[in-house]
Amino acid sequence: MKRRRSLLERHPARFSQTAMSQITYQMAQSRALRLKCPQCGEGPLFSGLMTMPHHCSHCGFVFERAPGFFLGSTYMNYGFTTLSLTAIYMGLHYGLDISNAVLAPILLAYCLVMPLILFRYARAWWLAMDCYFDTPETDMDEANWQRQQADLADRARQQMEREAADR
Ligand SMILES: [Zn+2]
Repeated sequence: MKRRRSLLERHPARFSQTAMSQITYQMAQSRALRLKCPQCGEGPLFSGLMTMPHHCSHCGFVFERAPGFFLGSTYMNYGFTTLSLTAIYMGLHYGLDISNAVLAPILLAYCLVMPLILFRYARAWWLAMDCYFDTPETDMDEANWQRQQADLADRARQQMEREAADR
């Protein structure tokens, strides 16, 4: 699989001086549960009920790590809702012998409400796990970025020299 571009490469201005460190599994879990930025554990992940700011107000970490990044969290949300729905239905219908007619509206309401309740936690968990398995920053990225910037500056200078020579 192609390596995802690092945060530094995508947002060099914001992160040129910041080298972020690897978080532990426990840190990732607890920050997700508290709906906090996975990188610093301080900045809130949501500014409204469902609104996510572009980046962390505390450390500047950009939450949407790639286009469509949070699509994965909807799969998690969907998966949890359907599995728990099945378990609840089995328990209530076959265990407690509650009829389908009674269960249908209750479980329908569950299907509608549960994903909304889980929305923020699914996103927080998805982001935290992604940061745990794919550290946003390393010293290697910093070095790569500096090399890349030097390369770009070189190319720009050569281009300008060529243009000057053409005139
Ligand atoms: Zn942060």
